[in-house]
Amino acid sequence: MIKNLLFSFLILLSFNNYITAQQSDSAIIGNFYREALTSDEGYNNLRYLCKNIGHRVAGSIQSEYAVEWVYKTLSEMKLDTVYTQECMVRNWERGEREYCYFNSEMFGRKELNCCALGTSIGTGKDGIKANIVEVKSFEELQKLGRKNVEGKIVFFNNPAKQEFFNTFEAYGDAVGPRVHGAVEGARLGAIGIIIRSVTLAKYDFPHTGVMRYADSVTKIPAIAISTNDADLLSRYLKMDKSLEVYFRTTCEEFPEKVSHNVIGEIKGSVYPDEIIVVGGHLDSWDIGEGAHDDGAGVIHAMEVLRIYKALNIRPQHTIRFVAFMDEEIAQRGGRKYAEVVKQKNEKHIAALESDAGGTVPNGFIMEATDEQFNKISSFRNLLMPYGIYFFITGGSAVDIYYLKDLGFPRIGLMCDSQRYFDFHHSANDTFENIHPRELKLGGAALSSLVYLIDTYGVQ
Ligand SMILES: [Zn+2]
Repeated sequence: MIKNLLFSFLILLSFNNYITAQQSDSAIIGNFYREALTSDEGYNNLRYLCKNIGHRVAGSIQSEYAVEWVYKTLSEMKLDTVYTQECMVRNWERGEREYCYFNSEMFGRKELNCCALGTSIGTGKDGIKANIVEVKSFEELQKLGRKNVEGKIVFFNNPAKQEFFNTFEAYGDAVGPRVHGAVEGARLGAIGIIIRSVTLAKYDFPHTGVMRYADSVTKIPAIAISTNDADLLSRYLKMDKSLEVYFRTTCEEFPEKVSHNVIGEIKGSVYPDEIIVVGGHLDSWDIGEGAHDDGAGVIHAMEVLRIYKALNIRPQHTIRFVAFMDEEIAQRGGRKYAEVVKQKNEKHIAALESDAGGTVPNGFIMEATDEQFNKISSFRNLLMPYGIYFFITGGSAVDIYYLKDLGFPRIGLMCDSQRYFDFHHSANDTFENIHPRELKLGGAALSSLVYLIDTYGVQ
């Protein structure tokens, strides 16, 4: 009897401790949100990155300005450590403004909104002109065979599918021809490819993004046209099979260059050698301003440090911010970071990255063991009041991907994805398209999860 009473009492005691811990955690998370929402520093930092530095493809002079600026900004935050980490990056330049039109004997000439795909070769200054074949998939292309493709320009016109709820899935589903279309076209003797921009929006912005060549296959130039123009071209092609398309690009790739990741740390008070890494990628495509992709992510992660400093909270584990270089082209920054972690045998607790834009955050997507996933998901109740309800498994983020095999969870911040691909990789990805409160919520969500991981661990 006494034993039972004692047991109940102990249970009650631990339950009370649990309640108190929850209450103080929710108070602290409340403070994180208050600090994030009432400070304009992150938003102003993003303005500087987008407006004063601008787009910053790896290897460009702007990307180096961005490295210097992040280094200086972190230094002014009076962190415990600020340093850069060298990596080599490819050095591709878009060249002159691209030009594309179709010409039909029946309907005349119509100019199309276009841009070269990232790392494409140029057409040379005379451009290329040919008949086109339109396909929706690689299977359709194969069926056409060499006799129908040789000497022509292949037009991949596969719309991103509207039925996906999460637009990242629509993007993943539709992006194949952008990445591999030039190789598949060239195998059948095509002289160039045109893709329909990978976006769910219907408008005039063309979207760039990385494409790849294969060593054994002739390199042919590749461009994207806007979704409106893809529909237009398709419509005219149905009426006039003999119409020709001309495009001209002057892209060029130069020898690789030295660039950098930028790193800043707040040392842990209890476990200084155990690291929670949180980052975003500093490079962007070379059109637009890299506001959503991924200026917002860099700012979200910088906000973690700023908020900790502002609230005068000393973490137990070291919080390490990383601005990764070169996510878009060859992920040299992410690879270098993982290489150094392995070399130095550094211990990480978790890796977090924000690379899903600057819209309203709504969850976390994880690559983790079941145990880690359950532990992190147990924080949901504390974050639900702030609209953070997705705790799901799936691809977290590209730069932290290279830390796989090390056993700790990798976590991506999820943001409402409905508008993201209206901006992504296009001239529409500008600071004006970031809402200050939405941006601030991202920093708050990321800081809160870092706090909970620092306090309770991941397993
Ligand atoms: Zn990105």
